[in-house]
Amino acid sequence: MKTEQSYDCIIVGASPGGLQAAIYLGRYNRKVLVIDRGGGRTFLARHIENFLTQPSLSGKELIERGIAQARSFNAEVIRGSVVQVTHAGRLFSAATANATYTAPFLIAASGGRENLPQIENLGPFFGSGFFTCVDCDGYRTTGRKLLLLGDADSTVRLAFAMHQMYTKDITLLLSTYVPPEAYQEALADAGIRLVQGRPRRIVGTDRIEALALEDGSMIPCEMILSDFGFAHNDEYLQGLDLKRDASGRSFIVNHQYESSLRGLFVVGPLNTGQDQAIIAAGEGAVAAIEINHRLLEL
Ligand SMILES: Cc1cc2nc3c(=O)[nH]c(=O)nc-3n(C[C@H](O)[C@H](O)[C@H](O)COP(=O)(O)OP(=O)(O)OC[C@H]3O[C@@H](n4cnc5c(N)ncnc54)[C@H](O)[C@@H]3O)c2cc1C
Repeated sequence: MKTEQSYDCIIVGASPGGLQAAIYLGRYNRKVLVIDRGGGRTFLARHIENFLTQPSLSGKELIERGIAQARSFNAEVIRGSVVQVTHAGRLFSAATANATYTAPFLIAASGGRENLPQIENLGPFFGSGFFTCVDCDGYRTTGRKLLLLGDADSTVRLAFAMHQMYTKDITLLLSTYVPPEAYQEALADAGIRLVQGRPRRIVGTDRIEALALEDGSMIPCEMILSDFGFAHNDEYLQGLDLKRDASGRSFIVNHQYESSLRGLFVVGPLNTGQDQAIIAAGEGAVAAIEINHRLLEL
């Protein structure tokens, strides 16, 4: 049987943005609910080193500490998957499989999920030698033998960026995309090796030694950077007709992270901003302060 409960604000996602908002709202003595299905991108980050005052912190630790801190200010954090959000009158309703929760404000902080290439033996190296985010982990590749995986014009540009910032020892592996001749010449001039082929298996046990390709050849490498982006966890918002950017992917928000629908805020990489934990947390704080102002007006 479905139950229904009402709150001042519902937050979808116990992410850095969602939890920071919950901490602020909890400290305004607001009734706040965080619904989270677990296992987000932050949770997968093994070593976060660019968060102020935290020389090294795992994403799991960040989330677990954040949940405890939010709960210490009476925010309710529950496990569940929001399947749909609807809006009627001034209220948002967030439905999970067994309950519906209502509130005049909702924060979407549900992040995304990695688009990973199908490569055998990837799991053990995800976040240690196999990376997906330059801002997060590019620094780790400094002076290392790097394999860059992708299949787009942007991957070629990323190769030049990695070359300028981190390492001269780069192999660029593209499966189907063939760069224009001018790009190929510039890659050769920079000493970046270009290989066309399909990856099959990461070779190595404790550390990455090479990438085996489907044609049987091997590319020796110590680290792999994958440039296939991530998909947004926004299915539950589909019915709301929110404005998105030209790519049709990211939600457009104002400087308080409010979407085109009044009362619905979007923080973290679902909006058009940067994909970083500390940025998402800052956005969560801004959204929560604005929501509290609005609750005072109500
Ligand atoms: C391997 C890796 C390393 C990274 N390293 C760094 C780093 O070093 N520094 C840095 O700043 N950033 C790093 N990031 C990026 C960082 O994790 C995110 O940019 C940032 O934390 C923002 O989190 P998020 O909004 O993506 O949410 P997430 O951390 O993905 O959390 C979203 C939460 O919402 C939940 N959720 C999704 N949909 C629903 C739903 N329908 N109902 C209920 N719950 C739902 C998910 O279960 C998840 O718990 C890394 C990311 C990865 C993948």
